[in-house]
Amino acid sequence: MITVLSGGTGTPKLLQGLKEIVDPNDLTIIVNTLENDYFSGVYVSADIDTVLYTMSDMINDELWYGVKGDTFITHERLDEIGCPELLRIGDIDRATKIQKTQLMEEYGLSKAVEIQAEKMGIPSKIIPMSDENSDIKIITDIGELEFHDFLIKHQSQPEVLDIKFSDVSPASGIINSIENSQAVIIGPSNPITSISPILSLDGVKDALRDTYVVAVSPIIGSDSVSGPASKFMKALNIDVSSVGVASLYEDFLDNIVIDNKDADKKQQLNQIVNKVTITNTIMNNLDAKKNLAQIIIDSIP
Ligand code: GDP
Repeated sequence: MITVLSGGTGTPKLLQGLKEIVDPNDLTIIVNTLENDYFSGVYVSADIDTVLYTMSDMINDELWYGVKGDTFITHERLDEIGCPELLRIGDIDRATKIQKTQLMEEYGLSKAVEIQAEKMGIPSKIIPMSDENSDIKIITDIGELEFHDFLIKHQSQPEVLDIKFSDVSPASGIINSIENSQAVIIGPSNPITSISPILSLDGVKDALRDTYVVAVSPIIGSDSVSGPASKFMKALNIDVSSVGVASLYEDFLDNIVIDNKDADKKQQLNQIVNKVTITNTIMNNLDAKKNLAQIIIDSIP
């Protein structure tokens, strides 16, 4: 069994490769839930839905959000009748979200996701990091912003001063899954808003210390491949580099996978982590995703 810690863009790219080279029955994916919230009357768990769509080959992998080829009839109609949506939710995607909202009322989030994964024919286990509602605020030079307001309404433009998120309890099965895995892969996801929330759950770091952990850096050179990760790291005074990423995971990290462009950081990284793997980490096609996944799997002792 391999456990993967995931957000909603970088790690799903890796999952596309991973599911081609390992038996998907042997994969457990623990997904960030920190940014989940209600929009337009439905529960939006963007990272979980991205992982569901990735594992069922439905993902819009240009945007890493929503379903490939989706229509936007409801979204456009809502706009016409004076009820514009902050999030652009497609029609098929909305059906997933309506179903999840209904299932959650009866069973809670974990079970709702389990039912949806089964209906989508996904053999892997997908576990939300928590069944509890969480809250994340981005403290900026224009005031305290809700995460999606920062990301969408303000296009990640304001200067970030701090990030605050609420404590939640881990969903059941997370610690067990880490403890019973041959290895844990921390995908190239935002270390601050996607991975740290999972790491801060009770018992997760202890479990990781006893397991082989390999992380892929989402930072190449001195910037993130996409999204606001570098901005968030800077705000928290973390060096924006693969070295900064490794230092965040130092406690339990066994191997960091960095890009060829960062080969000169090997020595510095070896002060923090035992093994440094250098390869192409830009996943812009399926071959690149499969190659990176294979290198990670081959590195597991
Ligand atoms: P979010 O939930 O949408 O923020 O997505 P994630 O947290 O999963 O991923 C965002 C991170 O993925 C960003 O920090 C990017 O730098 C990283 N990322 C995206 N594509 C790639 C890639 O091809 N290679 C690497 N190394 N990182 C990537």
